[in-house]
Amino acid sequence: MTITTPPRASSPSSGFGTRAVHAGSEHDPSTGAVIPAISLSTTFAQTAVGQPVGEYEYSRSSNPNRKNFEDMVAALENAKHALAFSSGSATTAVILQSLASGSHVISVSDVYGGTHRYFTQVAKAHGVKVTFTPEIEVDIREHITPATKLVWIETPSNPTLRLVDIRAVATAAHEHGIMVVVDNTFLSPYIQNPLDHGADIVVHSVTKYINGHSDVVMGVAAFNSEELFKRLSFLQNAIGAIPSAFDAWLAHRGAKTLHLRAREATTNATAVGHALEASPHVIAVNYPGLDSHPHRAIAKKQHRNGMGGGMLSFRIRGGHAAAERFCQLTRIFTLAESLGGVESLCEVPSSMTHAGIPKEQREAVGVFDDLVRLSCGVEDAEDLKNDVLQALERAVAETSNGNGTNGVNGH
Ligand SMILES: *Cc1c(COP(=O)(O)O)cnc(C)c1O
Repeated sequence: MTITTPPRASSPSSGFGTRAVHAGSEHDPSTGAVIPAISLSTTFAQTAVGQPVGEYEYSRSSNPNRKNFEDMVAALENAKHALAFSSGSATTAVILQSLASGSHVISVSDVYGGTHRYFTQVAKAHGVKVTFTPEIEVDIREHITPATKLVWIETPSNPTLRLVDIRAVATAAHEHGIMVVVDNTFLSPYIQNPLDHGADIVVHSVTKYINGHSDVVMGVAAFNSEELFKRLSFLQNAIGAIPSAFDAWLAHRGAKTLHLRAREATTNATAVGHALEASPHVIAVNYPGLDSHPHRAIAKKQHRNGMGGGMLSFRIRGGHAAAERFCQLTRIFTLAESLGGVESLCEVPSSMTHAGIPKEQREAVGVFDDLVRLSCGVEDAEDLKNDVLQALERAVAETSNGNGTNGVNGH
């Protein structure tokens, strides 16, 4: 009997869900196992010197589970290549280290805190200088110098959920041969595919939506260029900041339901966003899925079906004290850093994720002391909405009747 291999279910023209479930998920040819085994071996036998049995030699250079995961991410980001790293931060570090000494980078101001830290405190050690701008679409051309090699965008931004028009920035950058990187962590490949809008590299903290279950720290970069593949895979191997086989396997498993989770998180964040907007206890809501969002037109152009994703932030009445109380009074939202998991989380950026940024700098980009950031998980929308409303009611009441330490909104 001859065994014929059926055609793969996941071609580039398949829908997102089909690619999420099938890309990089070949059945095991020797056992028929539908789910690939976790390949813990660090080394792979060779039949003659320099002739490995298969495509693997040593697990830092490449590993079957990592390769499966990379193939899946490439399929989801409409990319030719993807490379996985031990964290989102390691991904950023490797891309920055691929630049020659003396290179200049232009970045949006409100990047992820760890990215800001790398740009300002680590990159300069190998001679890379970073300029930050709050309005990159407006003034990118003014910041470009002959040394500019890279533009770094985060859209939506964290934690104010501002959007950047990727196509507009890529057009300006490409006139000067400058590469554009988009950190797509906040939306996931289901909602936004930056390469389709002209970006050269898309990066993710896999820790967030791609894995989606708050049990893996990992990162990934995806791109089309062969030259980038050579340079970045060389560094991936040389630096060795690679994920374990187990983490690659777990993240691959998590990503198979990414489309379901991203849709549900969007439904939930939309319900919560509308409830917040209607509340007298709320000063402002930042959510790109709402028509009130200043960049709603970009969301409609850049996001799948104009979806807003699962992240939102809002300013509560009653200042910092009310923001802190809110996060202690929620019953379903857990007070914790991070985002993108199946469980809902809340936090106060000014004293948690963004505490390291000086107050004036923070407030200039909208990170006020009374700002609360929510990551909506995949619980039921009605429960999340009610949770937010009861916590709002109690937090504002407590902090306005003198129980709070700082009832006055200090801006
Ligand atoms: C978490 C995060 C990172 C860093 O990723 P780690 O996996 O924690 O190293 C980078 N960018 C964004 C937008 C993030 O949310």
